[in-house]
Amino acid sequence: MNLNRTIIRLITLASLIFISSNLFAGPLEFSVHKKNSGKKGPTILIIGGIQGDEPGGFNAASLLVTNYKITKGNVWVVPNLNFLSIIKRSRGVYGDLNRKFASLKKTDPEYRIINKIKSLIQNKKVDIILNLHDGSGFYNPKYINKGNNPNRWGHCIIIDQKNIANNRFGKLDKIAQSVVKMVNKKIKKPYFVHNTKTRDGNKDMAKTLTYFAINNFKSAFGVEASKSFLTHTRAFYHLLTIESFFKYTGIGFEKDFKLTLSGVKKAINSNIRVAFNQRIHLDMDNVRNRLRFIPLQKDSEIEYQANNPLVAVTGNGKRYRISHGNRRISYIHPQYFEYDKSIDRITMEVDGVKKEVKFGEVVNISNEFKVLLKKEYRANIIGFKKYKVGNEAGILVQRKDIKKRFSVDRDGNKFRVEVYKDKKFSGMIIVDFSEKLVAEDKKRIGAGKT
Ligand SMILES: [Zn+2]
Repeated sequence: MNLNRTIIRLITLASLIFISSNLFAGPLEFSVHKKNSGKKGPTILIIGGIQGDEPGGFNAASLLVTNYKITKGNVWVVPNLNFLSIIKRSRGVYGDLNRKFASLKKTDPEYRIINKIKSLIQNKKVDIILNLHDGSGFYNPKYINKGNNPNRWGHCIIIDQKNIANNRFGKLDKIAQSVVKMVNKKIKKPYFVHNTKTRDGNKDMAKTLTYFAINNFKSAFGVEASKSFLTHTRAFYHLLTIESFFKYTGIGFEKDFKLTLSGVKKAINSNIRVAFNQRIHLDMDNVRNRLRFIPLQKDSEIEYQANNPLVAVTGNGKRYRISHGNRRISYIHPQYFEYDKSIDRITMEVDGVKKEVKFGEVVNISNEFKVLLKKEYRANIIGFKKYKVGNEAGILVQRKDIKKRFSVDRDGNKFRVEVYKDKKFSGMIIVDFSEKLVAEDKKRIGAGKT
């Protein structure tokens, strides 16, 4: 299996949005994001992606990591439990991960994952566990029709039994009913509570994560969106349910988007960035299907950073695939260089103003720019039309001087400026002409010329 042979090490996630110091030994391990508010309150563990083909759940969990701030209590998030299956858009590459919690052979490839998540569930601090799923159709306690009946799994909260003794949050049925009531105030088609009565001989459910949690005296719920909806709609329902759990249990939170269908869709798809070897940063927003000749480091383990826990870079050295959850965002075709680490920034003249620019930054250009380098360095503006031997530093460059098809984005706004010393790669900067277009559009509209 190709993805398993990846040589890439995943380093989550140092970025503008959040910092996590989790460092993983192997590829595609799930990540744990502990959002501790510092203010007293319960700790909720939220798990997404136990099955790789349920994107509503893991996208909702990912948004908790990237777009929520916890102001009271603690929220711990595992947004990508079955990360390999997520990337491969499979329910379970090695079988159903949610049937491995009762007993498991040591030789099972997911033995380590199971042990790691089990110990997190058993962590003394964890009070409540929500396991997010996308289920088929719509659960209804009565048989209404083929899509709405007691054998459907979507659009409900699942409990294994009514109560757990000696637990502050042990009244599972009462809590689930209250949360469902809160959710139903905001939606038309009602959620229900589905009690699987696992202890009464439900052999399948006895192998699941929530039942393992309950046997460890933890309050646990399955939260199900319906597969009848598109991904962002499922994530919307998940977040509505999760926020109701927060409110009911006294978790304080803020978020930076509106909990509407369009708000969730936009939040899922924007602000995805990947960085390589600290010297190349690529914005995955509207990125082209393929990026060619990306200067990666020769004879070296490729390190990448992403600001989003659903991003994975996998490949075999000839080509790398950048995935976000179930989606492939782009392919990177590398060209290998030795790296020059003598500088981490350069000087640029941007619309007539001199600026220090760090490698990895995006520079907004209105009209023109010039790269200023010491004579031992040279600039390569990818797609620059005017052929000049070797070095494009010191030349005033406008948008019309660069071929559109070499842009990083599909709209032809963002271009790569690469700096080299001899044959070594020093770093990359992205020049972005899109703001000018926005400004010009506004002017045109303002002047009534459209
Ligand atoms: Zn599921």
